[in-house]
Amino acid sequence: MLTAQQVPSALARRSCSSALSQLPLEIRTRSALFSVPNSQIASLASQPCSSAFRPRARPPHPGRYQRYQGPTLRAATRTRSSPPPLLRTMADDHSSRSNFNDIRVIHSDFELDVNLDKKIIEGYVKLNVVADRGSPSHLLLDTRDLTIHRVELLSPLQSPTGEGGPIPLKFQLDEPHKVLGSALRVDLPADLVGTLTHGSRLSLGVRFTTSPSSSAVQFLDPAQTAGGRHPYLFTQCQAIHARSLVPCQDSPGAKMTYSAVVRVPQPLTALMSAVPDDELPAGGLPHLADVEPPYPTSLFAFQQKVPIAPYLLALAVGELSSATLGPRTRVWSEPSMVEAGAHEFADTAKFLEAGEAIAGEYLWGRYDLLLLPPSFPYGGMENPCLTFVTPTLLAGDRSLTNVVAHEIAHSWTGNLVTNATWEHFWLNEGFTVFLERKILGRLYGPATFQFHAAQGAVKLAAEVERLGADNPYTRLVPDLSGGVDPDDVFSSIPYEKGFYFLYYLQELVGGADVFDPFLAAYIMAHRHKTLTSADFRNFFGEYFNKVPAAQDVDWNTWFFSPGMPPVTNTYDTSLAQQAYDLAMKWHTCDVMGIGSDGPEGASPAVVAGWSSEQMVAFLDKLGQFRAPQPMHRTVTKRLAELYGIYDSNNAEIRYSFFKLAIPAEDDQALSATAAMLRNQGRMKFLRPLYRALHRSKAGRQLAEDTFAEVGMSYHPIARKMVASDLGIKE
Ligand SMILES: [Zn+2]
Repeated sequence: MLTAQQVPSALARRSCSSALSQLPLEIRTRSALFSVPNSQIASLASQPCSSAFRPRARPPHPGRYQRYQGPTLRAATRTRSSPPPLLRTMADDHSSRSNFNDIRVIHSDFELDVNLDKKIIEGYVKLNVVADRGSPSHLLLDTRDLTIHRVELLSPLQSPTGEGGPIPLKFQLDEPHKVLGSALRVDLPADLVGTLTHGSRLSLGVRFTTSPSSSAVQFLDPAQTAGGRHPYLFTQCQAIHARSLVPCQDSPGAKMTYSAVVRVPQPLTALMSAVPDDELPAGGLPHLADVEPPYPTSLFAFQQKVPIAPYLLALAVGELSSATLGPRTRVWSEPSMVEAGAHEFADTAKFLEAGEAIAGEYLWGRYDLLLLPPSFPYGGMENPCLTFVTPTLLAGDRSLTNVVAHEIAHSWTGNLVTNATWEHFWLNEGFTVFLERKILGRLYGPATFQFHAAQGAVKLAAEVERLGADNPYTRLVPDLSGGVDPDDVFSSIPYEKGFYFLYYLQELVGGADVFDPFLAAYIMAHRHKTLTSADFRNFFGEYFNKVPAAQDVDWNTWFFSPGMPPVTNTYDTSLAQQAYDLAMKWHTCDVMGIGSDGPEGASPAVVAGWSSEQMVAFLDKLGQFRAPQPMHRTVTKRLAELYGIYDSNNAEIRYSFFKLAIPAEDDQALSATAAMLRNQGRMKFLRPLYRALHRSKAGRQLAEDTFAEVGMSYHPIARKMVASDLGIKE
């Protein structure tokens, strides 16, 4: 393992003509860095800058509009291995305004200039498109808050030699929809439309600029970073924010490969959800030449050869360095956090190997982690090749790295096998929680699997209680028609009800020995594809058609009934039982009013040697017991003091305690909660804590004041969701 001091952080400042060839190969290809004067950008391909900088052959131009079948596409994707299979889905996606079922984008080449001063990205994308139904007259792309400068047809061109250049196309942005954004309608030339049949291919270029208010992008000022010297940018495209980053068919059903060249100010580094490339495109970078930044810049190139849903596009730009964790894994972060990240995530390679043993070959090449600044709104985001993680996982004792196991599991369930639309989100998340727990069980034993399963059931019950048992969003398959924002429906339900369902199915058909091979077969059969819940039901039915019990599944109730599942699972709670027993003692002592010293015999010794997960299990179980009525604040204070809650570095422990202590109006907990809301922006913590504060008499004003003070430092998605939780109109 490298320490932060050993990481070549000066790498980011090297120019392409300097020491690239002297660096260790692994690091050079990982960084894929070129520093180039702006005046040379357009003609990069003809100016060999270093040995790593080889122009690619220009693809031949196609002929006229004669049933064009796509030599340009094959060349343009520049895949060096066999191309991925074409992907199909006929599912209607209520969350996309694109017409991907008629004509689909299957590959995008991006040129992106990141302007951190203006908080915009100037971009050009070349879209390779295939007609799925005959004679589509137009292409519909999703956009939100994008300025579209021009759209042009790149191929097929009228002249076999391409003389005359690209053909400008008529386009129009629809009236923006509050949730879905503006569809970009591109009319195809009438004489081309007549020649298009199923499988015809064409390519279009779109020049665009993002807005500083892009919902996918958070720009951080230097003061919001750990280093404090340089600005930072990161994106979060799930669920439907990719459209505010680039024009695309923003549906999981529209998988595509991509390549990108990103220009950033020196000395910053760009990373994407792709494998870094050591070559720039053969045709040069004509569109980056449109923009001339008045400062020195660097170029980074990327290739994603596995088709991904657009929500998996990701970009981060900042002062970044890295440490190696394994042969295909490293952790990236700001230099001051690399060492802590390398320590915390040391088990990543082990998780990856366990994932492969269960789910099959890892197809994405690299698995790197990017440890983000504190405002990252999620625990982790499974961006392919580069999982984004929150620094709230840095407990110092590796106790929260099950999030990494979760994101690794997404390499199969979610990223490779993908929900067709956000209504079937449980196929991403329920399966991923299931696989995450299988990975943990494989590494730490079956009791660990059972412990997490039991904890998940507690979480599920609490979520159903919070949302209401008849709330339609507690359905495993919710209805998102009519412009419902998938962010509004987001909850633990698809995760934990999904897991619960899969565990039920596993036990029904005969346990893990039978179900594990099914899981591997399911992944193999659906990789590179998208599917709906009905597709899953059919696959399960066929696989287990000789198992009588498998015919008993009440699919409609599982899929469409709100509230708790129709069947109760039983888990082995041996690891959790001590925690649950202690929770019962505190519950009883509080209810009986026995006093402020806690249960008889309560002492720190009782929890000595417990894992942090057991502490969380204790606090969550106590929360479940006390859901109907808050605890007394004398008791919460005593509990915190006895177990050293305020000394804990573990964000989950503090969070679980605050959920108990806020309703108790425990003044010390209220101010510690406000501090936690100021210091990080992870929605898992923000939303329940803001809601709890807002519900309590003593905390209501504190919630509003804290949000007014620091709300602008949150990611746009987090800010929007918290504002809605607090009833604040943005
Ligand atoms: Zn997930």
